[in-house]
Formats: sequence, C-alpha cells, structure tokens
Amino acid sequence: MKRKIITIDGPAGAGKTTISRLLAGRLGYMYVDTGALYRAVALAAASSNCVEGGDLLADLLKEITLEFRNGQSGPRLFMNGEDVSERIRTQEITMLASRLSARPVVRRYLLGIQRDMGKDGGVILEGRDMGTVVFPHADVKFYLNAAPETRAFRRYKELSEEGVKITLEEVAADMKKRDENDSTRSLSPLKPAEDAILIDSSEIDIENVIERMMQYI
Ligand code: C5P
Repeated sequence: MKRKIITIDGPAGAGKTTISRLLAGRLGYMYVDTGALYRAVALAAASSNCVEGGDLLADLLKEITLEFRNGQSGPRLFMNGEDVSERIRTQEITMLASRLSARPVVRRYLLGIQRDMGKDGGVILEGRDMGTVVFPHADVKFYLNAAPETRAFRRYKELSEEGVKITLEEVAADMKKRDENDSTRSLSPLKPAEDAILIDSSEIDIENVIERMMQYI
C-alpha cells in the first residue's frame, strides 16, 4: 500500500498531537509536530536576543539545525544537537512562537524543512498550514477542531499535570490570543484546506476520532 502523506491542521488544544501520535502508531508512520519547529525558532530567537531585528533573525536561522530523533515516549526535537523538547513548552515560548510564526523569514525557513521531513510519505504532519500550504497535494487532509472552552480546559489540565502554575482563565486568554494571531495573519493563516475532512473532537472521544480517520484513510 502507498505510504501516504496525511495532514492534520487545527487550533491549539484540538487534540492534534495526541491523535497524530496514536494514528501514526496504528499506521506504522512517522509523525511530525510542526508546532515544535516554530517553538524551537522562538527559543533560539529568545536565547540570542533576535526577536525584533529582521536581519538578525534571518542570520540566526542560517545557523540552526533542527532534527527529530526517536525517544522512548515519542520523537524528541534536537536543535543544534541539543534536546530542546522540554524547553520549548514554556508559556513564554508558546506565545513567542505564535508571534514569530507571522514573520515571512521564519515561515520560509521552516517550509523547506517541513517539506523535506514529509516528502517520502508514510508520515502524519500536524500544524496550522500543512494541508493548505506545506503539502497542498497531501493524500488525506484533516482539520481537527473543538469548542474553545473544551480546548482551553484540555490545555489547562495538561499544564497543571506538568506542574505549571496557571489558572484556567489565563490559559483561555492565551489561547484566544493565539487563535487570533494564527487565523488573522496574512501568511498561511490557520484555516481548513478546501478538501480537508472536518472533525470536531468536542463531543467524541479520541478512540472515535481515530476510528473515523482510519475509515477515511
Ligand atoms: O501546535 P503548537 O501549539 O505547538 O504551535 C505553536 C505555534 O506555532 C502556533 O501558535 C502557531 O503560531 C505556530 N505554528 C504555525 N504553523 C504550523 C505550526 C505551528 O504557525 N504549521
């Protein structure tokens, strides 16, 4: 059977990462969390004080290498040889990734990397513009959504379990801001591809989402 390119786009907290990981396990595919790449760029920019300057950021991007390597509990992201999988998950980096993701220099840089990671197929790529821009000819495209309050509560639970001190209201406000940034930017805004299959995960559990996706695949 042909090893397909499958894309899953949608807003934060819709369940993309969990579902991509499980679906990849079922199919024996790789999965690529492209949000992690934007987060790594944000971490690099913050660590080198290049957040504001356009040229500085462009120069910085020439210096960094990004690579996923398999770890025990899933893929780990290495930047210039260092495992940054945990450092990219802070609230500060989350918001900075959303800001920097509107910058053409960042999107251009990551476009090539993402296409290279998916080109051989047998892969699930999750993000915001996988089906619209990065792989417009993907074999199967999903757009996963859920009600804002469901998404905020899921993210809040996740962060609380990791020991992050944050209130549900703060998570909801950050998420709203990110949704706005991501869907209103002029370059690659978050939206379903015309040929994407829309799935709302508010009311159905993960197993059911996976079953539905497997039928389409
Ligand atoms: O998916 P995650 O929440 O980790 O993504 C972090 C940020 O990276 C998003 O808020 C979005 O601004 C950006 N992003 C993007 N395009 C993608 C994936 C993520 O702009 N394909």
